[in-house]
Amino acid sequence: MSGIVIIGGGQAGVQLADSLRSEGYQGPIDLFADEPHLPYQRPPLSKDFITGDDSAEPLPLRAETFFAERGVQFHPGIRVLAIERDQQTVSTSNGRTVPYESLVFATGARNREMTIPGVDLKGIHYLRTLDDAMALQTAMTAARRVVVVGAGFIGLEFAAGARQRGLDVTVLEFAPRPMARVLSPTMSAYFAETHTCNGINMRLGEGVASFTGTDGKLTGAVGTSGTTYPADLVVIGVGVLPNSELAEQTGLDVNNGITVDSCLRTADAHIFALGDCSNYPNTHARTRLRLESVQNATDQARTLAKTLTGKPTAYKNLPWFWSQQGPIKLQIAGIIGADDETILRGTPATGNFSVYCFSGSQLTGVESVNSPADHMAARRILELGLPLMPEQVMDAEFDLKGFSKTTPLPLHEKENLEQPVATP
Ligand SMILES: Cc1cc2nc3c(=O)[nH]c(=O)nc-3n(C[C@H](O)[C@H](O)[C@H](O)COP(=O)(O)OP(=O)(O)OC[C@H]3O[C@@H](n4cnc5c(N)ncnc54)[C@H](O)[C@@H]3O)c2cc1C
Repeated sequence: MSGIVIIGGGQAGVQLADSLRSEGYQGPIDLFADEPHLPYQRPPLSKDFITGDDSAEPLPLRAETFFAERGVQFHPGIRVLAIERDQQTVSTSNGRTVPYESLVFATGARNREMTIPGVDLKGIHYLRTLDDAMALQTAMTAARRVVVVGAGFIGLEFAAGARQRGLDVTVLEFAPRPMARVLSPTMSAYFAETHTCNGINMRLGEGVASFTGTDGKLTGAVGTSGTTYPADLVVIGVGVLPNSELAEQTGLDVNNGITVDSCLRTADAHIFALGDCSNYPNTHARTRLRLESVQNATDQARTLAKTLTGKPTAYKNLPWFWSQQGPIKLQIAGIIGADDETILRGTPATGNFSVYCFSGSQLTGVESVNSPADHMAARRILELGLPLMPEQVMDAEFDLKGFSKTTPLPLHEKENLEQPVATP
């Protein structure tokens, strides 16, 4: 009997298997995971794993007994190699052919690799998987001077953790400000300054041209300015690529992720995609997006479980994200546009503040540092589409928390905020 085949045992795939049972699905569920481990949480890999010693243990996504208890056929260390859409089957790396009624891509993303001279030297690492993190743990015990390539979330989380361990850390970032793709300039400036004050050598506007080594072992990184930064450990964090090749090979549309509609369905009515590998129409941003976050992976899985159990449901959840960089906890609600106007509430010098981002008079997102109450209020305001005005945010006396608890807009006005977005 064919059931649901899930490709990928990460945050999205495991949550989907769980939610399918919670929604009452009783058919077979096959979960294929090419990593050999019990599914684990990735966020701690660039945080607690870095600051801890080399006995740090991965945090499992579910207990080992979960799969048997929920009646999920879990196939660790097995890769799905091909999909035969006409027959509705997949072929796996252990030589099996497995039928499906519905097939779900939860294949995630992988590191974008660099191809510059010296990149194969011993001492150069990436950070995506548990195996990556364990290799880094070992490398860090002997390292003194670290160069991090890329001032994105992963690079800076690692840099802050390595600095906390007392290592000498330099960050090379080609762009003029850190996390430029996702943060407002105000917030980028705060992080640049705080990391510098904590002893990290932040080299902004400096890419990496090559790596130097002796006897196959890393000795340094050469910046695009020609400066050489001595290093015995390099971590490259220059973004990820969606694992969408299998979908492409089977003839599905792929454009920075597997293209799906608001119910996370591809153009093939039996095939779906979610999490880091999917590109979907986002009602809050009013455009198509591919998001890389735990919230997105788990909320999409809960929503897709409804659709797969006969209750077609559009995915409309508000995106939110967090990052822990040394002492700084950053929380972001919504999607911030590159040209948004920003309003600061609170004082960065105190280490607790929020940046409110507006496109015209429309609130698009809120970035909060060590201010969880602001973040929760922002999530409610954005989720409900409450009409918060820039003047209100500018007024230091205005009660934002109280406002976030006001009644949502009448339904017809809220619908106006949720204009349809392009679907495939
Ligand atoms: C170090 C690190 C720190 C992070 N920190 C945060 C954070 O603080 N906050 C936050 O919100 N997000 C964070 N993220 C992002 C978050 O972990 C991801 O967005 C989330 O894991 C995405 O889940 P996913 O299931 O879509 O993909 P993944 O977790 O990548 O899982 C996909 C799995 O599918 C497997 N796979 C791929 N192809 C096949 C195949 N053909 N057959 C079988 N298996 C296959 C992959 O190997 C992988 O194991 C972090 C990510 C990393 C790497």
